[in-house]
Amino acid sequence: MPISLELKDRAAAGRICRLETPHGTVTTPTLLPVLNPNIQLISAKEMRRLFGAEMVITNSYVIRKHDDLRTHALEKGVHSLIDWDGPVMTDSGTFQQYVYGDVEVAPDEIVRFQRDIGVDVGTILDVFSTPERSYEEAREDLEETVRRAELSVAEKGDMALATTVQGGVYPILREEAARAVTPFGDLFPIGGVVPLMERQRYADLVRVIVGAKEGLPAGKPVHLFGCGHPMVFPLAAALGCDLFDSSAYAKYARDGRMIFADGTRMLAEMEESECLCPVCQTTPMAELKRLAEPQRMRLLAEHNLHVSFAELRRVRQSIREGTLWELVEQRATAHPSLQDAMKVLQEEPMKQWLERHEPISGSRAYRWTGPHSAHRPLLHRLHRRLQTRYQPPPDVETTVVLTEGRRPFSAGHRERIKDHLSRRAAHFIVDSYLGPVPIELDHVYPFAQSIVPDVLDPGSLTTARSVLSLFLDEVVRTQVLADGDELEDWTFHTAEDLYADPGLVLQHDKKEGPGIEAWDLDRLRMRATADLQFGRGAAKVLLGPWEGMEARVRFHRSKRLDKVRNVQVEGDHVLSLRAADGWFSLTADGARRLHAGFQTPKLRVVVQAESATFNAEGKNVMAPFVMDMDPELRPGDDCLVVDPDDRLVAHGRVILAPHEVGGFQRGLAVRVREGLGT
Ligand SMILES: [Zn+2]
Repeated sequence: MPISLELKDRAAAGRICRLETPHGTVTTPTLLPVLNPNIQLISAKEMRRLFGAEMVITNSYVIRKHDDLRTHALEKGVHSLIDWDGPVMTDSGTFQQYVYGDVEVAPDEIVRFQRDIGVDVGTILDVFSTPERSYEEAREDLEETVRRAELSVAEKGDMALATTVQGGVYPILREEAARAVTPFGDLFPIGGVVPLMERQRYADLVRVIVGAKEGLPAGKPVHLFGCGHPMVFPLAAALGCDLFDSSAYAKYARDGRMIFADGTRMLAEMEESECLCPVCQTTPMAELKRLAEPQRMRLLAEHNLHVSFAELRRVRQSIREGTLWELVEQRATAHPSLQDAMKVLQEEPMKQWLERHEPISGSRAYRWTGPHSAHRPLLHRLHRRLQTRYQPPPDVETTVVLTEGRRPFSAGHRERIKDHLSRRAAHFIVDSYLGPVPIELDHVYPFAQSIVPDVLDPGSLTTARSVLSLFLDEVVRTQVLADGDELEDWTFHTAEDLYADPGLVLQHDKKEGPGIEAWDLDRLRMRATADLQFGRGAAKVLLGPWEGMEARVRFHRSKRLDKVRNVQVEGDHVLSLRAADGWFSLTADGARRLHAGFQTPKLRVVVQAESATFNAEGKNVMAPFVMDMDPELRPGDDCLVVDPDDRLVAHGRVILAPHEVGGFQRGLAVRVREGLGT
C-alpha cells in the first residue's frame, strides 16, 4: 500500500489524520499549495519554511508538455525538478481539458508518465462534469471517468492513485461514482467543484461532498479539488474533506486580491489590514500598493498563504477541542450562500449522516453561536436517545416544566423544586434551549457544559419547543404543569385544561409530596444516565430494580466537587462517573453485568480471535482487527470488546464509528480501559 491514513482525532464528520506517504507523513486536514512547474512565485522549500506546508501539488500535464521540464523530471524525478523532498501529488490535465476543451495526452499515458517521474500520488485523467451537465450527460462523464480509472490501475506501478469522483451536481451520481472508483483508488479527489465555489453555490457543494463521502470508504483520504479559499475550509473539513489545494493564493495575488478567512478584498480598497501575518505586520497597505508588480504579487501571495494555513491550523485545533461546529457556524456568517449551505445540513438525512460521526462529548462547552446551533448533530442524537432510551421515574403523577436557567439546572431551580416537592409527587423537565432536559440528566454533556444566550431567536425556540412537545407526549405521559412566565404562551398537549386554569392543579394536587430531603436526585441521576448512555434497561442491568435500590447501591462522592464519583452495587464497583462530561466510565464489574444482561450485538465491538488475546491483557484494539460493531455505538461511547464467540475480553471507549469498520488499515478502533483476562 503506497499511502495510508490513520485517524487521530475527530469532530463533526471531520477528522485529524496521519497520512503516510513514501516521502513522509502529513497531518490532515491540510493544504497542498499548487506549484507551477514553469514559474515558481514561491518555491517548494519556502512553502515549508514560511507556511509549514507538508505536501505540494504540481501539474504533470504541464511538465510533460515542456521538453526541458519533461527531460529533467524523467531523468531525476519530480522531487528534483521542484527541489522538494516531501510528498508530491500531481494533477493530470483534467482541469486544462475543462478550460481549453482538449488535451493532447491519452489517459493511460499520463498515468504512466506520473509513475515514471516518481510522484507520490498521481491522478487519473478524469472527465470534468460542469454544473450545467444534465443528469444523463453527467452520468456519461462518470462512466468514462470510471473506465479511465480502471485503465489507469494497470499503469500506476507503486504510485498511489487518485481516482476522482465526478457526477455533476447530482448527489446520487456522486455516490454512485464514489462506489465505482473505490476499487481503483488510494486517494479520492472530489472533482468538478471549482465552478460551484466560484459561483458561491455552497449548498450544492455540500450535497456533492456528502454524496461522494457516502459512497467512499471511511479510511481513505478525500481531497476537495481546486478548493483554495479558506472561507470554505471549516465547512468542507467538517464534512470530512482531508486535503485542499490552492492555486488561489497566486491567482488572487495576480489580480491584486487579498484572501481572508471571511472573504476576499481588493488591495486597492485596503487602507489598513487587521491581519497578523508578517507581510501585513511589516508593510503598510499604502506601501504595498506602491511596490512594483512582481514584489507586490509575491507579498500578496505570501499573505494569502499565511491566512490559508492559519485557517487550517484553526480548523485542526477546533477538531481537537470538539468545537468545529462553532467555527463552521461563525464562518458561515461570512457569506449568505454559506448560510444556505448550513440550511442543507438541517435536512433530516444530512443530520442522520452527520450524527453517525459525531463524538459523544467534547472537551469544551457547547457554545451557542446562532440559529444553526439548535441543529448540531449532537443534539439530534440526544433527542433521539431521550426519545428511545429515557424512562421517567416511577410513581410520578405530575411533571413540572421549568424554564431555561442557571446550570446545572437542579441547583439553579433548587427553590422551585423544593416548593413543588412539598406539595406533590412531581418530576421536573427543563424547557432548555438544547431541548428537554430531565432534571436528573442536568450534569451530562452538553446540558451542564453549555453557554446559551439569555434570549433565543424565534426559530430556535420553536425547534426546542417542538422537541419538548414530542418528548412530553410520547415519553413522559403524565399531567404537565408549566412553571414560569416564559412558558405562558405555549400550550401543553397533555394538559391543556390544567394550563387553562393553573388553580385547578393546586386543588387537584393538594396531597403532600415527598419533600426535597426524601427526593433522591443521585439515585435518579444514576438510573437515567445509565439508560441514556447504554440503552433502555441498562440501569436495571447495572443497578438492579428501582425498588430497594437505596439498600443495594452505594455512592462514593468526591469531596471536592460534591458529586458522585463511584457507584457500588452489592459491594461491586460497577461504574465511575466522569466529572468532565457527566457520563459513566465502565468498570470490569459493570462491563460483565452489561455483557450478561444485554444480548449481542448490543454495546459489542467484535474483534478477531488473535486480537482478543492481546485485548484481554489490556492492549488497545487496532482498526484492522475489528469484525463488527453495534450500529448504535458512537465515537466516545463505552463499549464491550468481545471475541467472535461473544466472550468478553475487555472494555473501553470507541474511537471509530460503526460504518468505519473495515475502512482503516491503521490506528486505534477502541481505547481499552481494562483487559479482562481469558
Ligand atoms: Zn496578511
